[in-house]
Amino acid sequence: MSGLSANLETPHCGKYEQPTGLFINNEYVKGVDGKTFEVINPSDESVICSVHEATEKDVDIAVSAARKAFEGPWRNETPENRGKLLTNLANLFEKNLDLLASVESLDNGKAVSMAKVDISMAAGCLRYYGGWADKITGKVIDTTPDTFNYIRKEPIGVCGQIIPWNFPLLMWSWKIGPAIAAGNTVVLKSAEQTPLGALVAARLAKEAGFPPGVINVISGFGKVAGAAMSSHMDIDKVAFTGSTVVGRQIMKAAAGSNLKKVTLELGGKSPNIVFEDADIDNAISWVNFGIFFNHGQCCCAGSRVYVQDSIYEKFVQRFKERAAKNVVGDPFAQDTFQGPQVSQVQFDRIMNYIQAGKDAGAKVETGGNRKGDKGYFIEPTIFSNVTEDMKIMQEEIFGPVCSISKFKSQDEVIKTANSTTYGLAAAVHTKNLNTAIEVSNALKAGTVWVNTYNTLHHQMPFGGYKESGIGRELGEAALDNYCQTKTVSIRLGDALFG
Ligand code: ADP
Repeated sequence: MSGLSANLETPHCGKYEQPTGLFINNEYVKGVDGKTFEVINPSDESVICSVHEATEKDVDIAVSAARKAFEGPWRNETPENRGKLLTNLANLFEKNLDLLASVESLDNGKAVSMAKVDISMAAGCLRYYGGWADKITGKVIDTTPDTFNYIRKEPIGVCGQIIPWNFPLLMWSWKIGPAIAAGNTVVLKSAEQTPLGALVAARLAKEAGFPPGVINVISGFGKVAGAAMSSHMDIDKVAFTGSTVVGRQIMKAAAGSNLKKVTLELGGKSPNIVFEDADIDNAISWVNFGIFFNHGQCCCAGSRVYVQDSIYEKFVQRFKERAAKNVVGDPFAQDTFQGPQVSQVQFDRIMNYIQAGKDAGAKVETGGNRKGDKGYFIEPTIFSNVTEDMKIMQEEIFGPVCSISKFKSQDEVIKTANSTTYGLAAAVHTKNLNTAIEVSNALKAGTVWVNTYNTLHHQMPFGGYKESGIGRELGEAALDNYCQTKTVSIRLGDALFG
């Protein structure tokens, strides 16, 4: 492939021009080594197009562009203008909602109706951080009468941002919004499975008016471009969303290079607890949404379901009837809820977990098989009678696979729910306010939902306890991760020291 774009078509938005180059300094360019890689359509396993691949050399070029912008015009850009540019970008996301959602569905396989929600949320996130840009303020601190001290919030510098494939454009906005609001510049690497949306969004960033070098978007592999970013001596901060295994590697690389600041949003094995007094219809619909939304490819998926023993049989029966009704199929069909898994690798991993559950003696209540013979489709799968020692109860599957077991008392379920190395999210279903608050307080998780699931919002911080991460995304909390705190102390008067 030699060009820098491909003519593509989706059933939802028709024909469009897909950029395929690396987006550096507001231009699409080829990689220095001329390498490309294929992008696979998870619905039918065909090749959609090829995109240019960034290697270490391209990472260097992108970082230089971001550095030059940071030390140059961007540093002197007013907070108000940074806010305006983010607002412009949010407006362009909304204007191009159908296009962006279609590209996400094509590339990732997610249902187009769900992809549209992603894009609206991405626009909301960009607009929200646009609003923050001129509201990041310091503080005056009185110590002694002969000093004047203040704290200034400054940008960190060049931020490397490594995003996953499960919500490509939503993650793009979660990363770029706060980084830019705080005055940083960015080199963002999309996941190798889903590079397309990020490249279309890069064009919108240019159209929004961002100067060259402020937002750079590269496609490439984790072990090459991602590793080069995490160990880069001129990247001041790395923000990563992905697996815990890779999160550890990134932290090590940061430690072994320039001790760049690190924020990590990692895996999960979130408990979803249903008490006997819950509204059972509501609980079933949220438990269903909690695990099967986005094909189970959510770091906060409610993959461990604990149901109080008095309602266990009834719950399992009705939940499996509900799950069997989830429409699995073509992401572009209007009634589809669940499309294919993102890749052959993920498909194989999930099928191996399903086999491990069967081998361990858990009962398959529904699903348990591939769906169709082309594309990476898997039936919504529910295992009951799952015990704590089983792999399917302990490890993150990242697919449409739910493990259920029963509990007797509140104390018991809190203990079991917390018996994991993860701590990203959790949920409680009950009509009793005391139960809701006591259990929420006791759960070791960054987010706890009560009588709901997956209700993420850009105004609310999101991130993990324990091995689910470091730092918080979204809300005001995310800005802290993109600012340095500088203390300035001024001596007043002319008294000599000593
Ligand atoms: P998954 O296993 O679900 O693909 P990963 O955590 O491997 O999730 O990938 C998430 C992101 O991290 C992707 O952008 C990927 O390219 C990147 N990545 C993978 N390995 C590394 C690595 N060693 N260093 C930096 N980034 C990496």
